[in-house]
Parts: sequence; C-alpha cells; structure tokens
Amino acid sequence: MPFADRLQNVETSAIRELFKLLGKPGIISFAGGFPDPSLFDVEGIRLASEAVLRDAPGPVLQYGATEGYGPAREQIARFMAAKGMPVAPEGLIVTTGSQQALDLIGKTMVSPGDKVIVEAPTFLATIQCFRLYGAEVIGAPIDADGVQVEALECLIEEHRPKLVYLVPSFGNPSGAMLSLERRRRVLEIAARTRTLVVEDDPYGELYFGAAPPPTLLALSAEVPGSRDWLAYCGSFSKILSPGLRVGWLAAPAALLANATMCKQFADAHTSNLTQAIAAQYLALDRMGAALDRVRQVYAARARVMAEQLRAVLGDAVAFDAPQGGMFFWARLAGGRDAGAFAQRAIEKLVAFVPGAPFYAQQPDHSTLRLSFATADAAKIEEGIARLGQAL
Ligand code: PMP
Repeated sequence: MPFADRLQNVETSAIRELFKLLGKPGIISFAGGFPDPSLFDVEGIRLASEAVLRDAPGPVLQYGATEGYGPAREQIARFMAAKGMPVAPEGLIVTTGSQQALDLIGKTMVSPGDKVIVEAPTFLATIQCFRLYGAEVIGAPIDADGVQVEALECLIEEHRPKLVYLVPSFGNPSGAMLSLERRRRVLEIAARTRTLVVEDDPYGELYFGAAPPPTLLALSAEVPGSRDWLAYCGSFSKILSPGLRVGWLAAPAALLANATMCKQFADAHTSNLTQAIAAQYLALDRMGAALDRVRQVYAARARVMAEQLRAVLGDAVAFDAPQGGMFFWARLAGGRDAGAFAQRAIEKLVAFVPGAPFYAQQPDHSTLRLSFATADAAKIEEGIARLGQAL
C-alpha cells in the first residue's frame, strides 16, 4: 500500500510491543499506565448512568455538538474553577480523552518541519502525535522540580518552536512536579517569547501530601499576557474512568475554534452518553471522597515501592520518590542498560518499561519507569524482590 509520507515519522510504540509479553501467567506488572480498576467508583458511575438515561435519554443517545454536551461543559468549568481556573463553559471543548486534545493541538498548530519542545523524558504518545504532523521534537532537560527553565528558555530562543508541551504535575513518566517558582518563569517566558505552552494535567489531583502548586492556567492571572499563550488539557481518565474517554481542552478562542473544526472531521463529537455520565457524576458530588481514597491507596503503594527499591536494589538504582501521580522514574547505576534489565526481569516474571522511548532525542538507556498504581503492597514487595534477582 502506498501509505502517506507522514507515517515515516512514527513507529508503533516500543511499549505496546512490550505489553504483548505481559500475558505470561504469574507476571507482576509495573509496566502499565492504567489506574487501578478496583478504585473506580462503580456505584457512583452506575447512579450517574441511570440518572442520565432516565432524565435525558433523547439528548444523550443523540448526535450532539462538536464543542461538547452542555451540562458536561458546565460541570467541567465548575470543576476547573474549584482548582483556581476560572474558565467559562464556552472557553473549553470536551474531547475524546485528553489524548484527542493533544492530537487536535498537533493538527491545529504543527506544519511539517515545525519544531516542538517537550520534556526529556515525556509522554510517548505526545511525541508520536506531534511527529505524525511532521514536527521535529526537541527535548528539554528536567529534574525532580520539572523542566529546567533556563535550559527551556535557551531552547526556545534557539529553535523558535511552534509550542512547548509540559506535564507540570507528576509527569508521565518522570513523576516530577514543576515548582511554583518555575511555573511562574514558564509563564513569563511564554508571554515574552510569544510561545504557546500546552499544559497537560491528567495527574494533578493524584497528590499524596500537599496539593501541587496552582496550574499554569491558574497562575496565568498573575503573569500579564501569559493566558493568551496557554492551552490546558484535562482528563477524567485517572480520577474517574479512562473508559469513559472524556477529556477537555481549554485554550484561547482562536485555537479552540480551529481545534473544534478539526474535531468535526475527526469524530463529530465525543459520546454524549459518557459526557453526560461524567457531568452527572460531578453533580452527585462524589468526586472528593473517591479521590481521597485513590490518593490514600496510591500514596501507600508509592511508599512501599520506595522502601522496597531502597532495600532490595540499594545503590544499583537512583530515583526521587514521587509526591503524586502513578510512576517512579529511576536510573540504573553505572550506565547499565534498562532494556536488557527489562528482558531479564520478564524472565523472573516482573515487568517495567525501559525509559529510552520516552525521550524525543538522545535517550538515556539506563532509565526505567515503574507504575505503582495497579499492584497492591504485597505484589509490589514481591515484584521488587524479583527485580533484585534480575539485576
Ligand atoms: N497525557 C498524559 C501525560 C498521559 O499519561 C495520558 C494517558 N496515560 C494522556 C495524556 C491521555 O489520557 P486520556 O486520553 O485517557 O485522557
């Protein structure tokens, strides 16, 4: 088949290939990026589903507006306002997961040959998505406080990118949290260099101790001119259910209008039924209690993982224990190869993801990502013990 040239810029994710090995019986997986299904608020989702099918069966089963189902836009706007982000319902569109918001941003903003800056490492699907539209994706260095702003500023001056993509709170895969001071600097740089910053925030609610600093969007009120250069992607995937496929995009009006036009051609609109369920769920006021539980469980698992990693692997691995999210990002000592380690680990029936694919450029082959979201404490202890045998 004479496929489109753009496919030459991307390949199937190395992680998906690894997932094929995860069917082995008895395997303990730290590889996935899934939330724990036992934490889904099934009862709340059932109540919400029953209510929408009882009260508004016509609209929720019908075609709908590309921008989103009205009550969903209103509830999401309310949800954002509660997190310090005053956005009108018309200031956001509902998307089919935040993944679609990222795709629409790529479609709307990126021409072949354009440059895009991301964190090194960052969410793999975003790298692939921007590459599909022909972007040259450039990595900016990070540490436990998120992207290093001086380096980011230099890269922006040097490359004049179309956009900068950041996951400021508990990044995937880094687990890093951008400090308040750096958030302010990012906004100043965006306004000064007139560079679009895309803030992707699926994990911000999954904090273990104190909440992360306000989002870039919330802080933009303090930094003149920055709001015009900011797009915010939200998602219910990690805090309610990824199967609903409800995310959203809040952005300056012109970007939102173009993204909406592109969405018309992509899927016409996100399922009204799942949007309505998410909206009704928010209206039921159960999110707070459900999130408290998720935070507690993930915090405990992260604590066990940190203790076990230190006890079993000791100096063989370095990491900063995350303060939220779903991931540990670790580096093997002595530049040892995490890909080979992953192979040996699979033989010992434990899986994780090598870190190299998360780099747009110059992969660090000694890095790895471990998710603590789906394994309970006993599985984490056993899994890390097996990692020790695979070392
Ligand atoms: N952004 C990041 C950083 C993610 O990790 C994910 C999912 N793992 C997404 C976006 C997409 O999530 P969804 O489409 O389910 O909202």
